[in-house]
Amino acid sequence: MNIAGAKVLLTGGGRGIGRFLVERLAAESAEVFVLERDEALCAELRAIEGGKVNALSCDVSSADAVDAALKQVFDAGFDPDVLVNNAGIIHSEPLVNMLARGVDRVHSRENWRRVMAIDLDSVFFVTGRVVDQMLAKRRKGVVISISSIAANGNPGQTAYSAAKAGVNAMTQTWAKELGAMGLRFAAIAPGFIDTPSTREALSEAVLTRLQQQVPLRRLGNMDSIYLAVRHIIENDYLTGTVLEVDGGLVI
Ligand code: NAD
Repeated sequence: MNIAGAKVLLTGGGRGIGRFLVERLAAESAEVFVLERDEALCAELRAIEGGKVNALSCDVSSADAVDAALKQVFDAGFDPDVLVNNAGIIHSEPLVNMLARGVDRVHSRENWRRVMAIDLDSVFFVTGRVVDQMLAKRRKGVVISISSIAANGNPGQTAYSAAKAGVNAMTQTWAKELGAMGLRFAAIAPGFIDTPSTREALSEAVLTRLQQQVPLRRLGNMDSIYLAVRHIIENDYLTGTVLEVDGGLVI
């Protein structure tokens, strides 16, 4: 599929990796529609010059909000060729905090539900409706979900790792289920990418130590994620894959 002229629906495009993808895709003449929960960031997106970006405020972890927002998107005549499930939150919490006492020692169930809702449910809610629209409009669409190398199991990230492993499993399931209809599904599993969220979550000392574990000895940049997105869109024989973009971290 060509990026120029493609209609790309992207979740969580207000900042970080999503924002970078929106700007690069629009610069390559894609039409981009963003579902983003932060209305102020939506306003910023709508103000991007060139008229190729639209945005609607929507919490993609809510099934009702997703259904209402996508109705508006489709009613406005925006039939996606590409969906990028990018919205997500990183959450770190041990299964049992051995330094704490009482019930608070155990991973908060509230946090578990919140992470699963934002990182896993959202992908299920949005993809179901968008794929249904792609089928109705006979689009040979592609769905790209931003996963993480945490899907392999990351100590201290039970909920995040489980959610991202679920994203990979759904990607492979849908690739098999819907390949005959010409639809393609792929995930991208970034390692440590230099984003505001990474810098907020990890101290400089931790980042320096982590980089020593990466064969390429550095953080990835957001362009490496864009190049992976572009490759998946353009390569029509690629489906069901989880593309690791991690400087060699998981080998
Ligand atoms: P970020 O926090 O910088 O940006 C996330 C964006 O999504 C924000 O604009 C936020 O408002 C939006 N968002 C969050 N929850 C939402 C919801 N429920 N509904 C709608 N919008 C919502 O995050 P990022 O670092 O750019 O990460 C983007 C994706 O990449 C996530 O899925 C994350 O798990 C994945 N990832 C990031 C890294 C990294 O190093 N930054 C590594 C691996 C995977």
